[in-house]
Amino acid sequence: MATVLVAVSHPDDEALYCGGTIRRLADAGHRVAVLMLTSGENGRTLGMCAQDELAVLRAGEARAAAAALGVERLTILGFPDGGLAAQGDELSAAVAGELERLKPSAVFTFPPNGVNGHLDHVAAHQAVTCAVQTSREPGGELHYFASPAEFAEPVRPGFLHPAEVARMSLATTASVDAQEALAAKLSALGHYESQARSVVKFMRLYPDRIIAESFHLASGPAEGNLLSPLA
Ligand SMILES: [Zn+2]
Repeated sequence: MATVLVAVSHPDDEALYCGGTIRRLADAGHRVAVLMLTSGENGRTLGMCAQDELAVLRAGEARAAAAALGVERLTILGFPDGGLAAQGDELSAAVAGELERLKPSAVFTFPPNGVNGHLDHVAAHQAVTCAVQTSREPGGELHYFASPAEFAEPVRPGFLHPAEVARMSLATTASVDAQEALAAKLSALGHYESQARSVVKFMRLYPDRIIAESFHLASGPAEGNLLSPLA
């Protein structure tokens, strides 16, 4: 059985972009670890707590979601939410440390455009890809969350321009059926109560991505990789 690392920027990214895949990999006996680079402390509080209490609240939500998805190990690094792009080499060094500890045979993370252009997602892509490429045990699988076929969100501060997001989009090489793990995925998403607006917005814009999760294989065998049995 394989060790899998899912490396994301914020608590809720893992459930939104690959919750069904995580649950299905765990059900198949693989050991899934999730690494969150930030605590998401600058997100909305929806009046559930003070802003300076949000990191702790979201960590609790992340732990509950991880339990629903069968995640064995959850690590929250606490780099600044909204400030990943300014972290430089420190960020990829932290990811490299986790790779060194876990020695995963597959890593999942954001594609070059961050899926939605969020600059923290783009920075996660760069740091994780750099850490994987310089890892002492090359040859593992690297999977990126694939972007939707059509990206039509408005211009927003802290995000790449939508035209740039569309231009950088990578082809989907694997689509995982999340319906077999739908109850667990919905339960995980439901634990992110403080982020309810982001979660329902995702559901409204991309309902297809709740039941099917798309990936782009960046490195590793095109056939016989970890996702092959889940298509
Ligand atoms: Zn995010």
